[in-house]
Amino acid sequence: MASWANPDEGLCSECGHANSRQWILCDKCGARLPWAPPEAPKLKAHEMTPEQLAAVYGKVQPKEPFFLFLPENQLVLRALIFVILFLGLLAEAWLHLF
Ligand SMILES: [Zn+2]
Repeated sequence: MASWANPDEGLCSECGHANSRQWILCDKCGARLPWAPPEAPKLKAHEMTPEQLAAVYGKVQPKEPFFLFLPENQLVLRALIFVILFLGLLAEAWLHLF
């Protein structure tokens, strides 16, 4: 039966059903066809790049310090809060040193 088989088709290794070479999974039983490229290894979340994570889980918000909860357009306010915190720490250090 293979002698007249369409060269564009191949047989499923599981059930022997003739499938197009363009397909990856068997049309009949759903098994992965022998000519299909190997499945990409499934990466764990900690092994993925940020781009891969974004592709799988959607846009991931980067972790930021708590005072950066403000929107991007309020950079002045962010800077002001940072300066206040910095001066507070400086005053605290000053009191403990002297
Ligand atoms: Zn099959």
